[in-house]
Amino acid sequence: MKKIKNKHDLAINGAPPAFEQSLHVGKPNIGSREKFLQHVNAIFDRKWFSNHGPEVQAFEKRLSQHLDVKHCIAMCNGTVALEIAIRALGLTGEVIVPSYTFVATAHALQWQEITPVFADIDPKTHTLDPESVRSLITPKTTGIIGVHLWGRPCDVASLQQLADEYGLQLMFDAAHAFSCSHQGEMIANFGRCEVFSFHATKFFNTFEGGMIATNDDELAQQIRLMQNFGFAGNDNVIYPGTNGKMNELSAAMGLTGLDSLDSFLSTNKQNYLNYKKGIEQISGLSIIEYDEAEQNNFQYIVVETEDAFPIKRDRLVDILQAENILARKYFWPGCHKMEPYRSLYPHAGLLLPETRRVAERVIVLPTGTAIDKKSINFIVELLAKLSEVSFAENINLAS
Ligand SMILES: *Cc1c(COP(=O)(O)O)cnc(C)c1O
Repeated sequence: MKKIKNKHDLAINGAPPAFEQSLHVGKPNIGSREKFLQHVNAIFDRKWFSNHGPEVQAFEKRLSQHLDVKHCIAMCNGTVALEIAIRALGLTGEVIVPSYTFVATAHALQWQEITPVFADIDPKTHTLDPESVRSLITPKTTGIIGVHLWGRPCDVASLQQLADEYGLQLMFDAAHAFSCSHQGEMIANFGRCEVFSFHATKFFNTFEGGMIATNDDELAQQIRLMQNFGFAGNDNVIYPGTNGKMNELSAAMGLTGLDSLDSFLSTNKQNYLNYKKGIEQISGLSIIEYDEAEQNNFQYIVVETEDAFPIKRDRLVDILQAENILARKYFWPGCHKMEPYRSLYPHAGLLLPETRRVAERVIVLPTGTAIDKKSINFIVELLAKLSEVSFAENINLAS
């Protein structure tokens, strides 16, 4: 790996990039290929590819055990799972969500002509600020969707209290929070239901996939009907439904991944600790904290650039990208700045000062089983170099 001693060694100034192959955020964590292929052979022998087959049944059972929750309903992806959960809870009118999240949280409402109302976040946790939520409740509000961003839990108790006080439904987008806990209890058990994504970029993946977890028998039954066209048995449709089913190959990937979960976790944790050790020393940068008393998946290396850092966030991302370190500006610029919300609610940002501030400062760095310690050390050293004003000065950026 090349040494960067001065600004002329930076790829953005024409030097070769530090990494020949790019380091991505969200490269998949992959379990045993051999085991997966054994499952594939069994699927081919059975010729049972979908419709709640044996792989999906086994997968759902193991998910329930792992998360200590009564019902886990495997889904084709997290977005359809959100749409179905929203519908099963009977949400209409207005639903309060954070703007600082992946856009699917808002789209799952808009897609069904429900208005997402964007609340601000707590800058310390990056999750919903309950006081902001309270200020946005109107007679049309029917629910709140909290997002456990970066796998760190929302202020569940305060949100539940608000929901109870105003007679609102509370559910969670737990797309980032597989295998994480809150006050000793696994995320999956909070609100009326919690929705997970098993997309390839997440901590744990099934290629594409998702899941709804709930302890409510009636709600689980409703969700199963909706996920399968409303079929309550052969030829008996009792409900308007859609197709949200998980296929057998995805479930097989999930079963294989569950066997390797401990190794994904220890790799992610070690990567995080390596990053943390270095980044803590750099003035002007701060790295995400995970509560040591809880279970975390350490999937997101979230770094905030403070005012003291000599390079603006967007420039920093450009410099890293030139070295083939493909850092991301998650979740810039916030849902309220994306269509159709930007046009529908042009002034939404006025109520979202913390969302704006955080979205302008965050970069997410590569981690997972696809990155090694040497690469992390290089990234940290580069960031340290860039933090030295004299070094960073006059970096030749055509910006
Ligand atoms: C990934 C993600 C989703 C969507 O999940 P898919 O499985 O990709 O459809 C929803 N919400 C959040 C916060 C996400 O990160």
